Amino acid sequence: MPTTAVKKSTKAAAKSAKNVKYVYFFGAGKADGKGNMKELLGGKGANLAEMAGHPSLRLPVPPGFTITTEVCTYYWANKRTYPKTLKADVEKYLGMVEKATGHIFGDAANPLLVSVRSGARSSMPGMMETILNVGLTEKTIPGMIAATKNERFVYDAYRRLIMMYSDVVMEKAENREPYQGKGIRKVLDEQLEHAKHSKNLKDDTQLSTEDLKTLCAQFKNTVREAMGVPFPDDPMEQLWGSVGAVFASWNGKRAISYRRIEKIPDEWGTAVNVQSMVFGNMGEASATGVAFTRNPGTGDEHFYGEYLINAQGEDVVAGIRTPGPINEWSRTEQSKSERSLEQAMPAAYKELLGIQKRLEKHYRDMLDIEFTIENNRLWMLQCRVGKRNGIAAVKMAMDMLKEKLIAKEEAVLRVSPSQLDELLHPIVDPKAELATKPVAKGLPAGPGGANGTVVFTSADAVAAAKAGKHVILVREETNPEDIEGMRAAQAILTARGGMTSHAALVARGWGKCCVVGCGALNIDLAKKTITIGDKVIKEGDWLTLNGSKGNVYLGKLDMFDASENNDLLSGFLKVCDSIRSLKIRTNADTPEDSARARRFGAEGIGLFRVEHMFYGKGSDEALFKLRKMIVSKTVEERRNALNELFPHMKESIKGTLKAMEGYGVTIRLIDPPLHEFVPHSEEKLHDLAKSLNISFEELEKRATGLRENNPMMGHRGVRLGVTYPEITETQARAIFEATAELLAEGVKAMPEIMIPVVCHENEIIDQAAIIARVHEEVCKAKGLRKINHLVGTMIEIPRAALVANKIAGVAQFFSFGTNDLTQMTFGFSRDDIGGFMPDYLNKGILKNDPFQTLDQEAVGELIHLAVNRGRNTREDLKIGICGEHGGDPASVEFCHRENFSYVSCSPFRVPIARLAAAQAVVKYGSPKKAGKK
Ligand code: PEP
Ligand code: MG
Repeated sequence: MPTTAVKKSTKAAAKSAKNVKYVYFFGAGKADGKGNMKELLGGKGANLAEMAGHPSLRLPVPPGFTITTEVCTYYWANKRTYPKTLKADVEKYLGMVEKATGHIFGDAANPLLVSVRSGARSSMPGMMETILNVGLTEKTIPGMIAATKNERFVYDAYRRLIMMYSDVVMEKAENREPYQGKGIRKVLDEQLEHAKHSKNLKDDTQLSTEDLKTLCAQFKNTVREAMGVPFPDDPMEQLWGSVGAVFASWNGKRAISYRRIEKIPDEWGTAVNVQSMVFGNMGEASATGVAFTRNPGTGDEHFYGEYLINAQGEDVVAGIRTPGPINEWSRTEQSKSERSLEQAMPAAYKELLGIQKRLEKHYRDMLDIEFTIENNRLWMLQCRVGKRNGIAAVKMAMDMLKEKLIAKEEAVLRVSPSQLDELLHPIVDPKAELATKPVAKGLPAGPGGANGTVVFTSADAVAAAKAGKHVILVREETNPEDIEGMRAAQAILTARGGMTSHAALVARGWGKCCVVGCGALNIDLAKKTITIGDKVIKEGDWLTLNGSKGNVYLGKLDMFDASENNDLLSGFLKVCDSIRSLKIRTNADTPEDSARARRFGAEGIGLFRVEHMFYGKGSDEALFKLRKMIVSKTVEERRNALNELFPHMKESIKGTLKAMEGYGVTIRLIDPPLHEFVPHSEEKLHDLAKSLNISFEELEKRATGLRENNPMMGHRGVRLGVTYPEITETQARAIFEATAELLAEGVKAMPEIMIPVVCHENEIIDQAAIIARVHEEVCKAKGLRKINHLVGTMIEIPRAALVANKIAGVAQFFSFGTNDLTQMTFGFSRDDIGGFMPDYLNKGILKNDPFQTLDQEAVGELIHLAVNRGRNTREDLKIGICGEHGGDPASVEFCHRENFSYVSCSPFRVPIARLAAAQAVVKYGSPKKAGKK
């Protein structure tokens, strides 16, 4: 760049920097900012501006100003300095606050005190710093005493300022080592405790004025000794020290780790709010409280909250005194005999009640508000959209829709998919969970929560369940032999495996709580113990699992069940249905699961895994026959075994087709990863040998022969049908006969036959010929002209995605098997990723587990390409997804944008998919529009 251009652009930058507004005023019925300026003013600052200045609100907000988040960014980018204009701006705005309040900062006779608080774009509770009572100095103390006529109160405020300031500004922001190894705040706290003890006092409030005076002097001596400088007695120095400390706290350890967890970008920065102090601790006519415009735990529409007379906000949070209820609706067991705010201060309560109504109408959402009453005068300190649990979220969305406060598009956005999940399963009581640290973490494989005593074998789980006990089945990993125990247990915990491992797939299908890949577990099967670090858990000990988060807790945590509230849920889901365009199918393998999925709203089956019909209750016999088929050597042996299996297959397919009431049922031809089905126990191998009429040695030889080095890429899926056409033939016959029989009974049935693990169009041509021949044979035998059906394929191998144009020439539908597609695109084994995925996530190498949330960048690109190539060949190609991602909200949105016909997921995730599909329409518009990325 030529030098003149550089000069010009630097000049322009300087000029624009000059014009940047860094400080925004609020209070006295006006405000420079607005509620929608969160990026610049932070959440707190934006809402203070809205409350103070919006013409339809103009609420009593203590006047103040907000220093913008841009200053924070500047501060960190410029060696912790401020923009040049800031000093003059702050002085100017402080002047405005003085004018609005009638008090003067640093004035001996009529002093103004301020609070200095952080306020990021999205709330980071307790992660950054706050300093109160800034401006209190030797010079202003007498003025404050004269104004409040309360010397004790003023010295109490002063000792609070010294404690906060020395800790936040002088120690933390300066990056000093904690004083005496514990930090200055703790040291001062101990002095306060000592002062109480030496006089036999229980409460801070019992300290006299003289006690507090002595304490303040003692505090200041300690601070000077600890910091090597005196406690600042200049109000401006206090103010700038506090502002700098709040900006510094943006990069404090706590704040950084919170941002990592909540995925808040480092560049956002925090704003600083400087606000005139109001005091809820000025005596019996003063109070402070926190309230919600509706109950955040139940969704009840009444005003709800708690308060403390003669207290500051931090006292409510500290929990030293029991707060009273603000009204009768807010009474709890704890506060049943306390006076309500309505009773204690009727006028202030009435005003607050009116304000919260106006606020809710204005924001059209439930708000969380903080207020202070100073000498009977009400002040609003904060408002923000309130956090709520699942039940409350759904109830509020439906109530507000009825009240015409919000439209239906907004109502569906008001409930997050994880909140909806809380309504579908029992969960660990959130309060109990908050108070307990997990002993280990694994992958969140099956939803909800459960508690139970530990068992180590499937047989023990079955026996304990029969005896009416709640158990958690703990295994290294599971296989089909564990099925009965998995069914009997409340939850399953495995040390190995990933999100699409056997345990995860099966548990999710049942809606059962499950944590997999919990690498911290050292299981000793012989001793029946689990060792986690230095803790040893024995058989019979209690554990609690949170399968939605992957957390494992020692002991028995309370549970909370909201899954009964069906009317509320179904009403809400109907609203979702009226918006969404994606169809929602389910992955189900038994008539019972199919019927349940219908109740959850499934519009067909997207994946009926033939081999899973051998997992169900009482499926021992069928599983035995399947194994017989798998270890058969000759065509004759295999045909015999298939003939024995045939009635099981037909019955199961018929039941499922019937349960789906004419909706499409995608039956995926058998795809058993053989290693999962070869029996492990000697006893079972003996039985099998006997039934096949061969020696045990011969069977062992065959079983060994079946063991593959890489079974997931081995002889599975369509490859089995290519080698053994009789396997495809038997399945096709079961499907067509089941359908024909149903049609004859007057029941609608629509099978869609799906060929798995395809990589080349010729594989489909080969299999489709067998299917067509059997179709003809069954039609002939039943006297039918044809049986309506489709023949399609899974796209789960990258090659298949690339040649989708050719495959669509022979397949009538595609269903993306994103479990295998992810496995083969990443080259990560689905069964083994539990061992290393946590490291990838902890180190931030991957943002999400790609077996949980679709990797839109690469797997998504393959899908995008396959959808376009497939539809180029066959315009009306039906396209769905049946991998586990079909129930993941972000992946559902992706499928909507890619113009899929449907997503398919386990029955318990159907409601979540209905919600996610509706949200996708609200966020991205109709699929055609959304598809144009
Ligand atoms: C898939 O691969 O995504 C799939 C649904 O098939 P399976 O999980 O049975 O391999
Ligand atoms: Mg697959």
